[in-house]
Amino acid sequence: MRVAPSASRRFALANLCVLLGMLLYTQRTQEPSYLHWLVADNIILVGFCFLRWGAQRLYHLTSSHRFDLTLILSSIGLMLIVKPQATSSAYLMIILSLAAAVCFIMLAKDHYVAFKDNFTAYATYWLVVPIALIGMMFLVRALILIIYPEKVATYAAFNTEESIPILWVYIVLILLMNILIIGNTINRLVVKIMTLANKDALTGLWNRNALQTKLTLEHARWLRDKVSYSIILIDLDHFKQINDAHGHTAGDEVLKLAAKQLNSVTRKIDYLCRYGGEEFVLILPLTTERKALCVAEKLQQTLAEINFTWRGTPIAIQASIGCATIQKDLPVEALLHLADKAMYQAKASGRNCIKVANTAKPNYN
Ligand code: GH3
Ligand code: MG
Ligand code: MG
Repeated sequence: MRVAPSASRRFALANLCVLLGMLLYTQRTQEPSYLHWLVADNIILVGFCFLRWGAQRLYHLTSSHRFDLTLILSSIGLMLIVKPQATSSAYLMIILSLAAAVCFIMLAKDHYVAFKDNFTAYATYWLVVPIALIGMMFLVRALILIIYPEKVATYAAFNTEESIPILWVYIVLILLMNILIIGNTINRLVVKIMTLANKDALTGLWNRNALQTKLTLEHARWLRDKVSYSIILIDLDHFKQINDAHGHTAGDEVLKLAAKQLNSVTRKIDYLCRYGGEEFVLILPLTTERKALCVAEKLQQTLAEINFTWRGTPIAIQASIGCATIQKDLPVEALLHLADKAMYQAKASGRNCIKVANTAKPNYN
């Protein structure tokens, strides 16, 4: 199964680097060696950075290459100050531990940014905290080494029997890294499936299913905070004629273009959905009736400004729009019904116009 191949490549490199570093550790002797100390330590650090870069790829986060490369180069620079041998092991391990701590704490931050919009605060906490804990473990290790540097000498060379527990710690770390990678991939798949289930394939807008969820949430917020919200229903005029005259493909292009244009003028907190064939619903949180009417006028103008030509023939895009704002004692289903009614009034008034539903004294029929 190919899940995010470029992220997978980085995860594979992360494993390879950490394993290679560990292999070099096991070859350490009492002789000074840049390969077994400096290279081994920093290749492990590069592995941790690959883990971070993989996660950033997976969640489409901004890359931290520059920061991480500075971290690696600083680690190499500081390690070059001493001779690469067992007597410098405490110093070398402090540098590696501090750099690894920074890397894992930043990795936890990356995961927090990626998860906070898709998971509940509780789930985000449980996903991010274990990664931060690994970072804290490295930090504690660095502190212990700073306070008791003499303790480390016996564990520095990994080809002795005393070093076996430390080797196990690294094996557990690799295991944790892979659990994290698998967990991340599963998360990504779940988010992708959830998104696909809520998105309209043609326009990329939220679908009817997502609309219901969002409306229910917005209504619950209204009941709690009494800050009104509005909805706008947009139905393209004589859309069937476009299909009939220019074909279904042209109709699809009109729908995509209309969706793109409508989306471009909405706020980040608004929620634009494809309600049906050529009908769109815009949910406007924290919006009064007066403001909703302004938005509707802007949407109408935006659609009118679209210059669409199909095989040399210009096609005008117009819409009839109905607005409705929530009022006390008005159920959420009634609001959608009233917006629909207002839209039909706009159709009856000659199309290409806006009507506002009377939600104060609603007549549901
Ligand atoms: P009115 O001004 O009264 O709204 O007329 P209309 O032609 O826009 O509305 P009507 O309900 O008569 O026709 C809607 C058309 O939209 C019919 C249907 O074939 C077409 N349609 C629905 N979904 C799609 C789609 O995904 N792509 C295309 N190209 N057409 C679609
Ligand atoms: Mg319609
Ligand atoms: Mg229509």
